[in-house]
Amino acid sequence: MSSSFKIGRISGIDITVHPTWLIAFFFIAWTIASLFERSFESWSTAQYWTGAVIGSLALFGSVLIHELAHSITAQRLGLPVEGITLFIFGGVSQIRGRYKRARDEFFVAFAGPLSSLILGAAALLAWVTFRPETGDPSLLLGIIFYLGFMNVALGIFNMLPGFPLDGGRVLRSAVWGWTSSESTGTRVAATVGNLVAWGLIGFGIYQFASGNIVGGIWMAFIGLFLQAASRGERQAEQVRSAIGQVPLRAAIQRTPQFADATERVADVMENIVIRGFQQVVPVIENGTPIGFFTAGDARRFPATEWVNLSVGTVIRRQEPYTVQFSDDAVEVLSALRARRIQYAMVLADDAIIGVVGQAELESLIRFRNAGGDAPVGRPPI
Ligand SMILES: [Zn+2]
Repeated sequence: MSSSFKIGRISGIDITVHPTWLIAFFFIAWTIASLFERSFESWSTAQYWTGAVIGSLALFGSVLIHELAHSITAQRLGLPVEGITLFIFGGVSQIRGRYKRARDEFFVAFAGPLSSLILGAAALLAWVTFRPETGDPSLLLGIIFYLGFMNVALGIFNMLPGFPLDGGRVLRSAVWGWTSSESTGTRVAATVGNLVAWGLIGFGIYQFASGNIVGGIWMAFIGLFLQAASRGERQAEQVRSAIGQVPLRAAIQRTPQFADATERVADVMENIVIRGFQQVVPVIENGTPIGFFTAGDARRFPATEWVNLSVGTVIRRQEPYTVQFSDDAVEVLSALRARRIQYAMVLADDAIIGVVGQAELESLIRFRNAGGDAPVGRPPI
């Protein structure tokens, strides 16, 4: 997800937080505060707000542990993990590549809910062991109780069989293993997921109508989110099963010329874009890529200004998204769309060998859909 900020790195996996996470953080802290206020009457206002802030942070810590369980299992099975992002609905592990065996997907999907259930059970056990016979618990024990309850809920909720929830992946891999057909697995899981999503939307509306306004809206939103996700999954599968694997190579613009951030827009336009017939120019600053330059960036300024402007000041700065030469074109296209970015750098053995864009991928996939093999005019590698 673009505009996320990095908070750390665990086991080689970048942990980033999307700005929408803050909304969830405040919403959850507020929910915890009112829960503690109602449940533990002897607590002071300062106590239940302290508990709420720590509880909300600890809940996201739990979500992070859940995602790490997915990611580390995937790494162990040889799948590269790009990172973990925490956002408004929880967390997401960006696991690259496709599962070779149904079993692998099952393990990766199941590891998350399993970790939540274990964590939740341990916290509830601590609560049962240490809770006072009478009166309210200590601040720490109150938080432990909340975390125990929420982790169990997190484990159970994630096992709902709807994409992109873990239960959807567990179901998909189970059907895949059972029928030996990956696309049957996806179809079954997407259909069931769609029903689950509508169920959540319906339940949210019912909750809303019976007075639980915030909870009802929240649930309906999660339902809508799941509904969109299961539709996306079904469409991607239709494309995949219609055309099979599409190698990325035919859409790659090879050995691009690079521009330094300090170069003038006028020079880059003339030397690379116009004379070099190169539509996208990776821009480098102090040895690191900082984004892509296109004619569109230049056109936002009058041509008379181009001699005064450096490319570094006109482009949208964004650490370029990188893909591997061996990646599948359909996967790369959906990754670019999901991140709302136009271009990616293509790497082979850690060296940049080219650039690939949404438009080229779309036309390649359209071409393959129409029965073509490889577009003409581009040298095969
Ligand atoms: Zn999960």
